[in-house]
Amino acid sequence: MSDTQCLGNFPVADAPGYEEMLQCMRCGFCLPTCPTFALTGRERSSPRGRVALARAVADEKLEFTKALKEESFFCLDCRACTTACPSGVQAGFVMEACRNQAQGAFPMTGVTGKLREFILQRMLPAPDLLQTSMLPARLYQTLGIQWLVRHSHILKLGPDWMAKAEGMMPQLHPPLRQQLPDVVPAQGEQRGRVAFFLGCVMTLMYPEVSRQTVKVLAHQGFEVITPKEQKCCGAPHLTEGDRKTARELAMHNFELFMQLDVDAIVTDCAGCGAALKEYEELLEGAGEHERLEAFRGKVRDITEFLAEQGLRTEGLQPISQSVTYHEPCHLCHAQGISEQPRELLKAIPGVEFREMNEANWCCGSAATFSLKFTEESQQILDRKLANVKETEADLLVTANPGCHLQLAWGLKQAEMPQKVVHVTELLGRATPG
Ligand code: SF4
Ligand code: SF4
Repeated sequence: MSDTQCLGNFPVADAPGYEEMLQCMRCGFCLPTCPTFALTGRERSSPRGRVALARAVADEKLEFTKALKEESFFCLDCRACTTACPSGVQAGFVMEACRNQAQGAFPMTGVTGKLREFILQRMLPAPDLLQTSMLPARLYQTLGIQWLVRHSHILKLGPDWMAKAEGMMPQLHPPLRQQLPDVVPAQGEQRGRVAFFLGCVMTLMYPEVSRQTVKVLAHQGFEVITPKEQKCCGAPHLTEGDRKTARELAMHNFELFMQLDVDAIVTDCAGCGAALKEYEELLEGAGEHERLEAFRGKVRDITEFLAEQGLRTEGLQPISQSVTYHEPCHLCHAQGISEQPRELLKAIPGVEFREMNEANWCCGSAATFSLKFTEESQQILDRKLANVKETEADLLVTANPGCHLQLAWGLKQAEMPQKVVHVTELLGRATPG
């Protein structure tokens, strides 16, 4: 990304990289992989079309219009196009940079602008405030207000996104951050020492997943350090076009984790893992190149880490259930991790693995996409649910909290019997203790 000067008609610095846009040879290999192109058939909603639009702005053939702003937010940033592209063009990245430009060209004002600023710049960077903000939602559930709201159908009077957001909310539990010990010792013969990166959404919505991740790591012979000063990875900021706050958070986490004497920095959130691995590009010029490279070299998704280290299977208890696996885009496309979760699932005694069609096709969650474009998100989800249904598996396994929320909601709406679980939840169930 060019980060010091405005490029062409881009309104602010930090424009998409021009060289990257030039690499698109318009071959169209990416088209069949793009969920928004599949939905609309519109060239401008395809990777090739999006890159062409951004290039036209860079070449001063087009102004940065509201239509381009909308197109940048309509991109799921699923990166399926990057997997397919022979030139390595990252249309998702280009659109991510355009969202930042959109904030410069058409900044949000009024109450919406203030709310955006509060969430991105104050709430997400402050773990304590973030945790406190969940208290009303927990009271809403425990005092029975949720039951009343759901049974009164009052949500049908509001916008679609409100009903969906309410319906997606899982049963909330007290925050995990304080409960997790700073250090959990390795069990049996020690194989190493790892730092655990807590994802905000994972620990607030699915704390049991993080708990099981630590349990599995310890049982596998790794001492687990969880630095409590860690903050949001910055992914929500990049999604919403706030690269400045994303960089501040990245710098904080980078310096914090680099102080630790650990073999790896492990996370169980695919979105966080992708963001951490991309700090090298985000902080380019702001940190020493070698240290950024060293940081990048340590970050591992939990499935990548366990597969790399070799899963100790002795003592694992059998789980007699059939499972299918949905690949989070930020695991398979952004990090190239596809086989590892499957290997781990197949290694659990008793598990019958059933491959689904289009396992690496997006589920339609994509951060706030599912709330901003409820209808399109539903269509993408329906395609996924049809593939899940065909497998007739008992469980739907995934490895990202955004996918987890969307899939669990979809299964409930469709009255399908499958439950959604994270890979480490299943491994945790099989792990004694
Ligand atoms: S983005 Fe890549 S795959 Fe798509 S048209 Fe351009 S070069 Fe081809
Ligand atoms: S990131 Fe996904 S939605 Fe965006 S252009 Fe690429 S394939 Fe399409």
